[in-house]
Amino acid sequence: MNSDYMIATRKFKLIVRKRWQQQLLDQIFTDATHVYNYIVDNLDNKIGRPSSSKLKHITTRVYDYTNKSWNSANVEIHGPAVIARNAVKQVYNNLSTLQGSKAAGNKIGRLKFKRRLTAVLLTYQDYSIKRDKNGNWLPRIRIPGCRSRTFYFRGLKQIHQLEHEVEYWTNHYRQTVDQSYTPLPIKFKGAFLLRKADGYYIAISFAIDKAIWLHRIRNMRIGDVVGLDMGVKKSITFSNGIQLKYTPSQKLVDKIASINQRIAKSQRGSRNRLKRKWQLRRAYQKLANVTDDFRTRVFAIVNRYSTVCLQDEDIKGWMKKNRNGMSLGEKLQYVGLGMIKQRIVDQHPDCRLVDRFNPTSKTCSQCGNIKDDLQLSDRVYVCDKCGFKIDRDLNATINMVKVATGVQPVHELSEIDAVRRTLKHCNVEMSIIDRGSRFSPVTERVPVQSSGQEAVFRLRSS
Ligand SMILES: [Zn+2]
Repeated sequence: MNSDYMIATRKFKLIVRKRWQQQLLDQIFTDATHVYNYIVDNLDNKIGRPSSSKLKHITTRVYDYTNKSWNSANVEIHGPAVIARNAVKQVYNNLSTLQGSKAAGNKIGRLKFKRRLTAVLLTYQDYSIKRDKNGNWLPRIRIPGCRSRTFYFRGLKQIHQLEHEVEYWTNHYRQTVDQSYTPLPIKFKGAFLLRKADGYYIAISFAIDKAIWLHRIRNMRIGDVVGLDMGVKKSITFSNGIQLKYTPSQKLVDKIASINQRIAKSQRGSRNRLKRKWQLRRAYQKLANVTDDFRTRVFAIVNRYSTVCLQDEDIKGWMKKNRNGMSLGEKLQYVGLGMIKQRIVDQHPDCRLVDRFNPTSKTCSQCGNIKDDLQLSDRVYVCDKCGFKIDRDLNATINMVKVATGVQPVHELSEIDAVRRTLKHCNVEMSIIDRGSRFSPVTERVPVQSSGQEAVFRLRSS
């Protein structure tokens, strides 16, 4: 991969209406699974990368759902040859990821057989999006085995948006940095065919000129540093005073509960039960899509700050926390939120964790006084010493920033607009809390005197 490019991925939904389309996709996923398991089965035999002509008749492992065991079976691969070839590649890709993980010091197992692949690799030569006579994109895609036919897909707008963004930032780059810069054109790279409960998707990677994309990221910055706190009641509080409340749609939660009841009442192995289970998968998929959207947006907000500060609670424990006595809605909310935190810790270039025993909630963010008798039910923090009054969670986030970076967070009112734009059309409640005497934008950064609390730094370079 040329290092002058950066990768952006977009997902498109395939519209499957005709019988040949359903049959082709079935064939692709079945073939890919068989070949994948065949290679995994023969890794010890130094099988290498057999050509697709040698993959026509193979003895592979097939999962038997009734006996719950893996059996050997002779299968024939009828579908497009590239699919078999890519499935081989996919095994070796997974193998090198596994070895990379081992090199990083993680404990790893062997590659496992797959009952059914949910993602099938395509290289950039294997698919193409059609254009009309004038060179405009059409929402029609050709995948292996299509011959002269095509699939319609949803989400063409995303390609236009990407092109538009690159054009905009290229102009910006020319005006501010280098007048004569000519960026490399956007390139289609590899893709994955995805099989989900609500249908088939294709996730396409685009290569975009690195200088332009980095320029965009730099210019999208809305601030230097932000603190972040999470809880079930208020979901997410930022140190700029924005609070987001994420609750999975009650309608969907009720639906999941009612389908579960019906499954419990239905007879094992009956058609009815199978149908309900399908319904349940679709409902969960829908919920996952909504949650994923929210997570992506929160991550987009955090990414627009150079530094993010979090309190290092036991993140895994957060997700595993005893969930008995919680309603189904609360459980689903927990799962959605826990993953946001993990993603920020894993992917933000400068994420700083404050030690979990640091009393960020009990400390006054104005004068540093520690209030030991603060109750969990006190939603507003009132300082005994200086009389400062502030929302409890907001107070904690400001302290996180102070502990992790040594400065008082400075936020501008314009940040609120930027965040609002990022959350446009997103089904989430956003509120702005009064930051008391600190609400007016402060232009100077005030270094905080050391209060004896030590910050735990975790710096990452991207
Ligand atoms: Zn105080």
